[in-house]
Amino acid sequence: MTSPFGHYIDGSWTRPAPAAPVIDVLNPATLRTAGSVAAGDRDDVDRAVRAARAAFPEWAATPLSRRIQAVADLAVALEANRERLALTLATEMGAPLTFARQAQVGVAIADLEALIDAAKQLPGPRPVSNSLVVSEPVGVVAAITPWNFPLHQIVLKAGAALLAGCTVVLKPSEVAPLNAAVLTELVDELGLPAGVFNVVFGDGASVGEPLCAHPDVDMVTFTGSRAVGERVARSAAATIKKVALELGGKSAAVVLDDADVPATAEQVVRSCFANTGQTCAALTRLLVPRADLEEWHKAVVAATARWQPSDPLIYDTVMGPLASTVQLKRVREHIERALADGATLLTGGPDALPELGPGAYIAPTVLGGVTPGMRIFREEVFGPVLAVTGYDSEDQAVELANDSDYGLSGGVWSADPQRALGVAKRLRTGTVGINGAGLDVGAPFGGYRQSGIGRECGAAGLAEFLESKTVMGARDL
Ligand code: NAD
Repeated sequence: MTSPFGHYIDGSWTRPAPAAPVIDVLNPATLRTAGSVAAGDRDDVDRAVRAARAAFPEWAATPLSRRIQAVADLAVALEANRERLALTLATEMGAPLTFARQAQVGVAIADLEALIDAAKQLPGPRPVSNSLVVSEPVGVVAAITPWNFPLHQIVLKAGAALLAGCTVVLKPSEVAPLNAAVLTELVDELGLPAGVFNVVFGDGASVGEPLCAHPDVDMVTFTGSRAVGERVARSAAATIKKVALELGGKSAAVVLDDADVPATAEQVVRSCFANTGQTCAALTRLLVPRADLEEWHKAVVAATARWQPSDPLIYDTVMGPLASTVQLKRVREHIERALADGATLLTGGPDALPELGPGAYIAPTVLGGVTPGMRIFREEVFGPVLAVTGYDSEDQAVELANDSDYGLSGGVWSADPQRALGVAKRLRTGTVGINGAGLDVGAPFGGYRQSGIGRECGAAGLAEFLESKTVMGARDL
């Protein structure tokens, strides 16, 4: 048994005392321990924030070229450690190894590259009206992240904050913190000034809340559930902190009547089931012409047959277990509620899969006959569950897609891309893909409505960590 990772504060790892509380991380495929981390508290938060505050003036004054070099070195280090990180992700949250290499780690590297490109194009001081306008780092940033694409979510926040000149206190998810520990080892090797990057492991109540409420934190950037996002905003409100929130979604795939049915079914199913459905922007509601429902049901069930769950460490596994047994219980309850509400089970279902052992496995599930009155039409499942709904007209399809408290993502399929674009413009979501186009880490990512506040990725993601200062009367200085 390896010893638990301590926190990383002021440029050093803390060493947990033998009796100190730790968080054991369970491998969701085997339910055996994959590793452990220290369980932090308010005092750890306070020490980390003090270190970040002390380091801020020097890091903010560090030339941008030096900060860019540090983040570029981190991207190189991620690439060199792709295998180790992928294995860590596979064992702590069940991502299939091939997917972890390409999507989990690969996207994190691409995130940093896009942020670096954006930083290279940051405008310097600029004349506006009678003033000179300068961009300055926000200050000490608290970054709180979830477990589903944990490395991607950490580097989007930490990478952008460091490039902007902010110092960081990271609280990774307690469900999958081990990739953050590996990342921190890589950051440690960059030789940043002590206190620029700090990590406190722990849960939401003991570490997350004190971090959000801390008077010396200038900004909280959070990715996670809508419910916790609301608590984060409330905790931060007492000191009027800047808050960026990336929350959940219930995104719709709007398929127009001229789209290719089998090819589109493959793409929608991939969006919904990749990462075992634990993707905030997953297309989990499929809206299809009512007249073609039968054909769609068959096509979606056929496409789903290729998404059978299996051991994440086997090279051709496409779908691993859910990230935890807690998540398994939640997903089962969603399916059971949908069936109780009158949805039809087309394939899958809530039953255990004993042939796969004790892990948090669930069959990919497709539900037909889903109507706006059902909970499955509105609630985020965060598991491999696709809800199919028929529509009678293009206007009704748009209405159904927009009939959600969320507004994170969407997709439109049509044989005529201009027609698809026309519908895409009517969707009230932060991103929308035409004919299967997926995440673009160089362009803004974020949500409308209860899917969040602010944007991540590229120039827009970097801008979140900058304040704008107007120096009046200095236009020509
Ligand atoms: P979660 O909200 O339960 O936890 C997220 C993080 O918040 C964790 O680090 C947790 O410890 C911390 N936390 C919990 N309570 C807190 C509190 N009171 N104060 C401060 N921090 C607290 O989310 P999760 O289950 O880890 O992740 C799944 C959710 O994340 C889904 O709803 C999903 O849609 C969302 N998500 C959104 C995006 C996006 O970019 N929009 C991306 C990925 C995941």
